[in-house]
Amino acid sequence: MTHHAFSHCPACGADTLGFDGTNRFTCRRCGFVFFHNTAAACGAILTVPDDAGGDPDGGRVLLLVRGNEPARGMLDFPGGFIDPGESAEDALRREIREEIDAEARDLRYFCSAPNEYRYRGVVYNTCDLVFTGRLDRPPESVQQEEIDGYRLLRREDIRLERIAFPSLRSAMARFLQREVDDFG
Ligand SMILES: [Zn+2]
Repeated sequence: MTHHAFSHCPACGADTLGFDGTNRFTCRRCGFVFFHNTAAACGAILTVPDDAGGDPDGGRVLLLVRGNEPARGMLDFPGGFIDPGESAEDALRREIREEIDAEARDLRYFCSAPNEYRYRGVVYNTCDLVFTGRLDRPPESVQQEEIDGYRLLRREDIRLERIAFPSLRSAMARFLQREVDDFG
């Protein structure tokens, strides 16, 4: 844990903020409580039709290559943090537009998983809401500053250890297993 990044009370300014080890900072001087609660995030497992044909269930799976830390160079799902006032569905559509300039079809809730997102010395506990969906065609462009490109992978070529976060790794494992269950 690196929550010692926060030590000063935002109310009284004293260097007396204590962390309870879960989600609560309490000021020993003035009693102020700051909650560092779980943040909601969303991501999508999107399939893209395979032009080569032959796969009746929607072709390849789209994965993005992360261009920034944490986990730069690892594979990621389109998605991101849900903004205040935003639904998970709206956040996911916004992120897909921003990241790959595309509109996804058939977005359906799939599963959720907890994650720890480390950024500049602070651990953000997230709950990642994962959806499935489809794209009509591969993306024509990706957001340059955050993404280093994308991969379109056959299901059997997806290596879970190349996926950036444990939450997304478990969601992908479940997705691939479900397909085995559905079609095996
Ligand atoms: Zn205080």
